[in-house]
Amino acid sequence: MKKFDYMAKYGYEQLIYFYDKETGLKGITAIHDTTLGPALGGTRLWNYATEEEAAEDALRLARGMTYKNAAAGLNIGGGKTVLIGDATKVKSEAYFRALGRYVQSLNGRYITAEDVNTSVEDMDYVMMETDYVVGLRKTSGDPSPFTALGVYVGIKASCKEKFGSDSVKGLTVAVQGVGHVGYYVVKHLVEEGANVIISDINQANIDKVTSDFKVKVVKADEIYSVDCDVYTPCALGATINDETIPQLKCKIVAGSANNVLKEARHGEILQEKGILYAPDYVINAGGVINVYQEMLGYDINEATNKVNSIYDKLLEVYKIAREEKISTSIAADRMAEKRIAKMKNVRSNYIKR
Ligand code: NAD
Repeated sequence: MKKFDYMAKYGYEQLIYFYDKETGLKGITAIHDTTLGPALGGTRLWNYATEEEAAEDALRLARGMTYKNAAAGLNIGGGKTVLIGDATKVKSEAYFRALGRYVQSLNGRYITAEDVNTSVEDMDYVMMETDYVVGLRKTSGDPSPFTALGVYVGIKASCKEKFGSDSVKGLTVAVQGVGHVGYYVVKHLVEEGANVIISDINQANIDKVTSDFKVKVVKADEIYSVDCDVYTPCALGATINDETIPQLKCKIVAGSANNVLKEARHGEILQEKGILYAPDYVINAGGVINVYQEMLGYDINEATNKVNSIYDKLLEVYKIAREEKISTSIAADRMAEKRIAKMKNVRSNYIKR
């Protein structure tokens, strides 16, 4: 990848490499766009095969955060850090404190949080060295219940758009993956009177759900073809693909899984088949909305109200898609881009504060 060409094409601001010789910390931070505010995005620890792969991931994920944060109506831009290493070997207090010092050196242009293979406990070490970390145990806590609430209200908005009513009572919802997010999604749905079908590959997670709620369980590969109104992917990405789309009997795809469309064209195929797709980064923004609240002074009621607004955001996306005759994923991108462009314009004059 020619990085400067790529950065120019997609409007990146900065790409930073850092290395700590004592701990072996090797990382890359990408800052995509800070029009709306400091770049916020978690730190991912992954055993990348090459440095190139790590840099590409940082760039791609940072841009994704710009769209997610903008679409959620937050005053933050998009960024991401990736650390190159084996999560079972490299972690230590010194390692994460070294990360904290690099984050601090950016002087607030980038704010980090936990992500794949980094935990809230790791962020406690990061916090010892920087003011620019969120998603901490002592404040916003576990983001999953907030992500799940956003998914639940997002399912309701999607039902409103597709069926004319936002009630899920009596509807059948198939939830793939009942881990941190899926468990709470099931809870909300069952409490409102939906018929819920679940699948998971982890028996302990299935047992937890079946002991708490009345749901039907199917085998992992059967979830795509069950008779249902809504398919709610809360496990892996890329589950909407050429193999699964022909099996779907649902009218709505709405869940927390990131990058649920294997390729962008799968969004168009869903649309052609009359299946409404809730764009992943709009419906799963509850977690980032919750951690963002830490920057303003954490208030759980305020965070909850903002997560509930995912309902209106999705209706807005669906309206854009209808009016402009485009897929809902493209409509979500347009909504995010429009907000960034408007705010750029608002800030075009000099005001002394
Ligand atoms: P998790 O690991 O706690 O849960 C995922 C569950 O999916 C696990 O129970 C796992 O066994 C199950 N699973 C894996 N493969 C499966 C398969 N083939 N079929 C059925 N089940 C399978 O993860 P999570 O935190 O609940 O996140 C779920 C998804 O939502 C992920 O894609 C994540 O990126 C996304 N997401 C999570 C959050 C959050 O706040 N946790 C925020 C935004 C997006």
